[in-house]
Amino acid sequence: MIIVMKSAATADDIQYVIKKINDLGLQAHLSTGVERTIIGVVGDERLINKDQLSLLPRVENVIPILKPYKLANRDFHPADSIINVDGVPVGGKAIVVMAGPCTVENEDQLIQSAEIVKKAGVKILRGGAYKPRTSPYTFQGMGEQGLKILAKAKQQTGLRIVTEVMDAAEADLVAEYSDLLQVGARNMQNTKLLRALSKIRKPILLKRGFAATLSEFLMSAEYLLSGGNDQVILCERGIRTFVEYTRNTLDLNIVPAIKQLSHLPIIVDPSHGTGRYDFIIPMSRAAIAAGADGLIVEMHPNPEEAISDGEQSLKPEKLVQLMSEIGLIAKAVDRTIL
Ligand code: PEP
Ligand code: MN
Repeated sequence: MIIVMKSAATADDIQYVIKKINDLGLQAHLSTGVERTIIGVVGDERLINKDQLSLLPRVENVIPILKPYKLANRDFHPADSIINVDGVPVGGKAIVVMAGPCTVENEDQLIQSAEIVKKAGVKILRGGAYKPRTSPYTFQGMGEQGLKILAKAKQQTGLRIVTEVMDAAEADLVAEYSDLLQVGARNMQNTKLLRALSKIRKPILLKRGFAATLSEFLMSAEYLLSGGNDQVILCERGIRTFVEYTRNTLDLNIVPAIKQLSHLPIIVDPSHGTGRYDFIIPMSRAAIAAGADGLIVEMHPNPEEAISDGEQSLKPEKLVQLMSEIGLIAKAVDRTIL
């Protein structure tokens, strides 16, 4: 349910409505637009008497939201949300590229990667310190030591840091060292993790699960939003299909679909989406053309020596090529590259 306030509504009018909602044992979330304020009501909607709420001072309209995602819904927040990643805006006119190795392997590799991506014009450095590997026998990440290396790379280059958090118990630790916390595909429906991250005061990059429907994807975002963290960036990273020539099938249809239904920004991961370094540039161009707000791409100084995902990592010179090619596409769709 959303309550649309009249443009003349004062802060007191809005507080009064919020108090009525809270008195019913429901939660109120504010969406303050240029023209008017919208109050999202979440909780057991059976407790709401729509007619009574409509009569409160300076309430313009009370509208039920039929979709299960309420706060992620564009009806609640008509304008695009712009997420602030330590000063880097994601979701505005400018497209944001995040790049770096799949995993932090050692300090030299990561600092070298940071310098390469910075030189290519990238604003956010990626690198996993906690790795959700398919096999328990493969490298699982450097853990806290990896986080420290990422923080050092930020200190030296000014790049913002995105890294994965796998465990609710490590949420504060990962937040301490990074600017954007990634929830991996395998954890998209780890509701304990989502609840913990809803209490963190840092933005979240929520990757789509391998087999998640659009509605399930947005419901995972809803866990973050309803818990109090409205700084959410979605990421399409490919889904499982019968297709066997790529690691996953990059579902670019979801980009315009999300844009219609939600106000949250969505970026695309063509590395995991294809599993092939030679498909990254074409699918990046396609993602930007489809309306994505950014990309997250794997890049390794020497992909053939990478501990993980070398086969889907760009070489340094290919990252430079990607940046220039998506610049052309961005221009064609009236966007810029940050
Ligand atoms: C990653 O970004 O390295 C990763 C493991 O991604 P995903 O969760 O999409 O597989
Ligand atoms: Mn990877």
